[in-house]
Amino acid sequence: MFPRPRLLPQLIDMPTLAIFGSTGSIGRQALEVLRASPDTYSVRVLSAWTNVELLAAQAKEFMPEVVVVGTPEAARRYRSCRDDLREHVLVGEEGLEEAAAWPGVDTILSAVVGAAGLRLTLRAVTLGRRIALANKESLVVAGDLVMEAAKTSGAEIIPVDSEHAAIFQCLVGTSPDDVERLVLTASGGPFLGRTREDLVYVGVDEAMDHPNWSMGAKITVDSATLMNKGLEVIEAHWLFGIDPDHIHVVVHPQSIVHSMVEFVDGSTLAQLGPPDMRLPIQYALDYPVRNRSAWPRMDWTESHQLSFMPPDVQAFPCLALAFDALRAGPSATAVLNAANEVAVAAFLDGRIAFNGIPEVNAKVLGRMGRIQVHALEDRLALDTEARVLTEELIGKEGN
Ligand code: MG
Repeated sequence: MFPRPRLLPQLIDMPTLAIFGSTGSIGRQALEVLRASPDTYSVRVLSAWTNVELLAAQAKEFMPEVVVVGTPEAARRYRSCRDDLREHVLVGEEGLEEAAAWPGVDTILSAVVGAAGLRLTLRAVTLGRRIALANKESLVVAGDLVMEAAKTSGAEIIPVDSEHAAIFQCLVGTSPDDVERLVLTASGGPFLGRTREDLVYVGVDEAMDHPNWSMGAKITVDSATLMNKGLEVIEAHWLFGIDPDHIHVVVHPQSIVHSMVEFVDGSTLAQLGPPDMRLPIQYALDYPVRNRSAWPRMDWTESHQLSFMPPDVQAFPCLALAFDALRAGPSATAVLNAANEVAVAAFLDGRIAFNGIPEVNAKVLGRMGRIQVHALEDRLALDTEARVLTEELIGKEGN
């Protein structure tokens, strides 16, 4: 069964990196990792869609050979921010794909959000590059295509998401037959312990108030609905080749145990650490080496309480929807992801209530969850269709 961490992974001395999405939350934290160990990495590519001012500052500091921005207008603004421009400036999705194939790059950090991130990940995987993967769409929309491409090219995919990074670390040195189940931990988000009725009137501010992690708006809402965990279940299925019946979710409010693997002999391995994304980012960039870091660490001389409980799927139906979609196949997970993006945006705009997110998602999945398409373009067309249907349903609700 593919994939697993390799027994003899490639050792890279002073990795040359392409950081896609360098102005986003993951990208900025990746640059913090680089800043903390200045002689460990070199940067060849940086990219941002619209935040050209920050990208220009990053380019000044890290001196990449190429940057990618979203539009010709963003390229013009970028050039005007750089008085000492030496790097190539590429534009749009084509630019991302060209940069993904840039010569001399060892590891690509794919942290661009959305379908553009999927295309660039697929391109890099097809070329057999090592990918530090932080783009969710790559596996939720096209996990089958990405893993097929990786199998053919031999590309290594090292997950950056804390849960998958934990599982990846627990699997190092094991054989596929050893694994009984994957156990993904979920913080439970800001609404842990609330019932479905309690959630009727919760507002955007409350949903944005995550107890442990600081993240972007979309993923913070996804953490509050548990859809984030659902999407991670889908990703885990593809990354580790484990069927949905052998993937479990457990609520662990402290976010110290990042996930676990239960083995056939009854033993469970876990990876622990403070909730800090710089740790899994550094692991993905350094793999298979562990370099010393200055990030906060657990103080095991102090008392800690770690608790675990089953998730409440009545209050948070998005988790069950993700399992349903995963069982229906990769087109259904693409549909669910598209519906959810539209629904979350509508919630953030005040157009639907918090409980409206799972309701809309369930309706769209009910209508479109049986469609199956394989090719990437068809999958993306299905994604668009699901977004249109979701908007229609939200519009009707509002009237
Ligand atoms: Mg996560």
